[in-house]
Amino acid sequence: MLISDVALEECVASFEIRSRDNMKDLQNLTDECIKEIVALGMKPGKISDVLINSRAKTRWGQCKAKSDGTFEIQISERLLKDDRVSDDSCKETIIHEILHTCEGCMKHTGKWKIFAERINAAYGYNIKRTTSSSEKGIEEHISSGIMPKYMFTCRNCGIVIYRKRESKFTRNYRRYCCARCGAADWSRRSIAECSHKDQ
Ligand SMILES: [Zn+2]
Ligand SMILES: [Zn+2]
Repeated sequence: MLISDVALEECVASFEIRSRDNMKDLQNLTDECIKEIVALGMKPGKISDVLINSRAKTRWGQCKAKSDGTFEIQISERLLKDDRVSDDSCKETIIHEILHTCEGCMKHTGKWKIFAERINAAYGYNIKRTTSSSEKGIEEHISSGIMPKYMFTCRNCGIVIYRKRESKFTRNYRRYCCARCGAADWSRRSIAECSHKDQ
């Protein structure tokens, strides 16, 4: 049995820090995004709510056209909580969704695409068109890049760690002890299989 490697220990330690409540300020970020969009002459629609979605695991953002002509935007809590996600990366998702509120911009083609490209050029973002499963103005999509590929759960103490790529640990995880409780009893789930094809 191998003793858990340093990298894993670091991973567990940083996970515990991240899981404390130091969320990015969604309202503040949204205000900045709107300013940046408006400064380039684009006009977002009326946004009635910007909500944090704590249940979405594979969807980063959502823009919903409501029957009264306003829009509701939801941003995944994971983007806001996870320190690996930069403010700019979070703003890319917010801007992506805000652009959908502009007239004629519900799809990722035409005006939306032109606007996204203009914003990318002006501010250096990388706002991408994604394959959406949109229906009636509700869309769900996944941003690649920041999604972890694997999720390991210690069956003994319950801690969850994520890995973004294949490594010694992801291949030989049965031989590694949990840095927190010492057990060698990981369950492995591949997140990629169920969520990545959409991009
Ligand atoms: Zn979209
Ligand atoms: Zn454990």
